[in-house]
Amino acid sequence: MPAVMQAQVDDIIDGHPSTLALNAINLLVALCIITFNHGLQLRTLVWLALALSILVLRRISVNYLRGRIIVAQKPKSALFIMSLGAAASGFCWAALPFLIDDFAPLADDAALIILLGGLAAGSVVKQIGYTPLALVFSIPILCSIIFSLVRIGEWPEYLLAGCLMMLIYVFVRRSLWTERMFVSNQLARLEATALADSLTRANNDILRQNTRLEALANRDTLTGLANRMFFNGHLSGDIARAVVVNEQVVLLIIDVDRFKSINDTLGHSAGDTLLCDIGNRLRDTITDGSLIARLGGDEFAVVVTGERAMERARNHANRLLLASRAAIRCGATNSVIGLSIGLAAYPDHGANAEELLACADMALYDAKRLGRRQMREFNPDLKRDAERQRIIEQDLEKAIESGAVTAWFQPQINLATRDIAGFEALVRWQHPQLGFVSPPEIVNAAGVVHLSDRLTARIAADVCLLSKRLPELGIKGVTVALNVSPREFALYSVADMLERVTGEHGVDPSLIEIEITEEAILDPEIAGEQLKRLETAGYKLAVDDFGMGHSSLAYLISLKIDRLKIDRSFAQDVARFETNQKLISALVSLGESLSLDIIIEGVETAEDAAILARLGCTTAQGYLFARPMPVKQLEDWITEHQNKTPLKRKASHLSVAGP
Ligand code: C2E
Ligand code: CA
Ligand code: CA
Repeated sequence: MPAVMQAQVDDIIDGHPSTLALNAINLLVALCIITFNHGLQLRTLVWLALALSILVLRRISVNYLRGRIIVAQKPKSALFIMSLGAAASGFCWAALPFLIDDFAPLADDAALIILLGGLAAGSVVKQIGYTPLALVFSIPILCSIIFSLVRIGEWPEYLLAGCLMMLIYVFVRRSLWTERMFVSNQLARLEATALADSLTRANNDILRQNTRLEALANRDTLTGLANRMFFNGHLSGDIARAVVVNEQVVLLIIDVDRFKSINDTLGHSAGDTLLCDIGNRLRDTITDGSLIARLGGDEFAVVVTGERAMERARNHANRLLLASRAAIRCGATNSVIGLSIGLAAYPDHGANAEELLACADMALYDAKRLGRRQMREFNPDLKRDAERQRIIEQDLEKAIESGAVTAWFQPQINLATRDIAGFEALVRWQHPQLGFVSPPEIVNAAGVVHLSDRLTARIAADVCLLSKRLPELGIKGVTVALNVSPREFALYSVADMLERVTGEHGVDPSLIEIEITEEAILDPEIAGEQLKRLETAGYKLAVDDFGMGHSSLAYLISLKIDRLKIDRSFAQDVARFETNQKLISALVSLGESLSLDIIIEGVETAEDAAILARLGCTTAQGYLFARPMPVKQLEDWITEHQNKTPLKRKASHLSVAGP
């Protein structure tokens, strides 16, 4: 096995300098002994020179083998060459007894015999790794001693020669045994090293996998930013640190405006690319080491800590809003993507990560509510609003079921005759804890908790009940209006629900008017088909808050709208504002030319009513005539109103009915 041979070579080379040095010393000692016993002779000097030359050559050959990397690449050749060197030295020593005349191994030259025997034994003891090298050195020496003993022909010499032969046998066996031990040691060492290597490799693999898993666990795979899990831990850690060092931790929550519709229209891969671009933009803008994370979907977060954290966070937000004005790749086109940002700070707004997140979310919601593309900072009012919103959402279902949410009605009056021209149903809820809950709050909460259909069905049922009661109160053929918010058409089938409710109550659809804002009219995709169905079924359609938006006139005509309800901002103080008068008269003529009824709402003073009548408005609604009121009170109001002669009614214009 090359690795074992390599170890054998290394073992020999390690001991090579000392082997050669010992050899040289022994050569000099041998010279001294010979000179002492036999005098200095030329042949002894020649022998010494030859032996020393061999040692030098052996030294050179080892250096050569090392330099040519033969030692490492061809260990077998290296062993062979070194064995040749050892054999040369061995034969040189073996020649010594033959150089001396009358060599007397057990008399004068006994010291030489001891030296030679010691050399042979030393070589076997020293070269344990590779048997041939020890044996090619020692066996020639021992054979030479045996030969010189046998040559004497006496019994003691014979006996000693016999012992030496046995010694050769012992040397050979011992050498082979030590070599086997050496080889098995080397194999064990190699195995251990290989095992250690593979353990190290496995360990490195595990470490690499751990780093990868850690990255996977902490990074958002799409954008490469920190993910929510890492963000949560980091934010808690930052707050814990801030408690000790008495610092601020500022959190920005960033939301991509209308991302959902981009995703839906351009596809998910375009959405992903967009999120990556936004991630890069965040990285480019926020370079002070603040943590940037993607919390999921289109929501990103930045945690700013350290000195002047608040100032830096505000700067980040402003720069992000500025950067978001640059167009960004969005599918096949470039678009400007708006960002909304909410800011909250520890300890000012929240005491822990969870509270801080909730506060930043509320600020974000506020930014969106105020028209998006802006940053809002948290303030305690937002918390109150959110808590109120939460309670409303939580209690709404029960309130609808129990009838706590109900319709109040506001009469509509014919400006010329002062006769009742109709009613509008307006949702009312007196919450036991929150007090009066405004209709937009109720309608929004219903949208959030998916109760829009049940809410409108509840009001529609109240509308039907009033519609059926009206003939008994002496009022025939007037409509009762019901508000339907534009978003509802996308949430459920308003047409199905209304047909069901009016069917259950046996009410003629032509006595029900549906008030929708221009927004719904503008979105024919969603509302168009349902509005057509309602119109075909006989329901009256009115455009609420008319004048505030941009209704498509062509579409209005195609839908066969019955009424335009001019927004109350035009009615307010109309007597004083000439521009409003001009606008109203323009809207009235528009209505006339399209054969649409016109009703104006929000009439509060007799002066305004008089002007409006002069401008051509036929029907009006407002506090001047009556406030919205519950059915019981409405019945009394109707009776009272009906009992008044037109003249009396005129006189009572200014009295305001109801709460
Ligand atoms: P809107 O449909 O424009 O309703 C008219 C609002 O003006 C009502 O407010 C009414 O109380 C108020 N109002 C009537 N006369 C006067 C007046 O002379 N002066 C002033 N300042 N205000 C007057 P309300 O009841 O708070 O409703 C607000 C909005 O909530 C409504 O505006 C409507 O958009 C929505 N809403 C009300 N009830 C419902 C409902 O049942 N369903 C849906 N979807 N929306 C509703
Ligand atoms: Ca209305
Ligand atoms: Ca209105």
